[in-house]
Amino acid sequence: MADKKNTCSFCGRSDKEVTVMLTGINGCICNDCVEQAMQVLRDAGLESTPSRNNHDHQLDVDFTKVPKPTEIKEYLDRYVIGQDDAKRFLAVSVYNHYKRLAQSTVKIGDDVDIEKSNIIMVGTTGTGKTLLARTIARLLDVPFCIVDATVFTEAGYVGEDVESILSRLLQAADWNVERAERGIVFIDEIDKIARKSDNPSITRDVSGEGVQQGLLKLLEGSIVNVPPKGGRKHPDQDYVHVDTRNILFICGGAFDGIEKKIAQRLNTHTVGYNNVRATRRIDPKNLMRYVSPTDLKSFGLIPEIIGRLPVLTYLNPLDREALHRILTEPKNSLVRQYTKIFQMDGVALSFDDEALDFIVDKAMEYKLGARGLRSIMESIMVTAMYELPSSGKKKFKVTKKYAEAELEKNNSLAEEKSK
Ligand code: ADP
Repeated sequence: MADKKNTCSFCGRSDKEVTVMLTGINGCICNDCVEQAMQVLRDAGLESTPSRNNHDHQLDVDFTKVPKPTEIKEYLDRYVIGQDDAKRFLAVSVYNHYKRLAQSTVKIGDDVDIEKSNIIMVGTTGTGKTLLARTIARLLDVPFCIVDATVFTEAGYVGEDVESILSRLLQAADWNVERAERGIVFIDEIDKIARKSDNPSITRDVSGEGVQQGLLKLLEGSIVNVPPKGGRKHPDQDYVHVDTRNILFICGGAFDGIEKKIAQRLNTHTVGYNNVRATRRIDPKNLMRYVSPTDLKSFGLIPEIIGRLPVLTYLNPLDREALHRILTEPKNSLVRQYTKIFQMDGVALSFDDEALDFIVDKAMEYKLGARGLRSIMESIMVTAMYELPSSGKKKFKVTKKYAEAELEKNNSLAEEKSK
């Protein structure tokens, strides 16, 4: 029998059968078993590679170059109309996020750790949630991706695993892991993975609570094994290890019906002797602005997820005036975009005020927020875009009459096609 001192305590082989034998106080381990142990750690996401040890150093940011919250808001103002509260919350969170990244370089002489502040935005569809997140990412020049929470299912079920979120971010960062690790992920439709009911049911809720549990691990900051190029997990694949500590997650959702929960909560709160003062301050037309973490919980988000999304803000529903401004004011407003499209054919495009009012009225009717504006515009402009380039005309004015007629014509065409 081989001398115990020179035998691997894990596989039992002697030092003659292996390349290297490491000796400890009470046993030995061979090079093959060390490698296997490394693999186990890697699979559990606990591996500590040399590059990870340099990690904080690589994420150093020059804090003096980071835009201040007021500058971030000013930038957002150029592209996004209204939504001042959401803009302020976002600006502060992003600024603090950078403070977090810079905390290893800016020495204040304490060991206070600034925690991550992921964001959740609540607001009906087409009010600018995605636009806000996209605009912020452009300002900061960091990798950015949008994922739709509805495509995810709990690991092992048909659908995508939550890890694929990080594959998308890696893709946006050209597979540069360090860059991806300071990116921004926008998770849309987070409300669609709300728990279906408060009662645990016999059938598993694989697209609801299970996905929320999966998301938790990304949100709280851990090293996640991402299958390369987004494929499904396979035992032989080498994973890419992504540290989510410094990735900023911004979640958005319409939370249809949450106003009822808010109203219920406000009502129960206002019963009592303070009620007169409290109710006077409540604006019943925009209950969304009173949204609180409790309402998200009543809606079906699990408390752990809510805890990982400490910055909660809301978007206002867009009224007529806001829609009108969206049509004309932002740097890449629809009117400016169409003007450019026509300019490229040498045609000067203009809109009558009445025509713009008509487009806004229709968008209000469709109840799709600003999203409706685009499809209405497209229906109205398609004939002109088809005919004008070969007509030799130098000017084109969209009147209300023209807009009405074109919308009617093209909408009825669309309806016919869908029959
Ligand atoms: P959401 O994510 O809230 O459903 P989006 O941000 O995708 O809505 O908005 C859809 C489109 O509507 C955007 O591309 C943008 O052109 C326009 N839009 C929405 N809200 C605003 C806003 N507040 N200011 C300017 N444009 C907006």
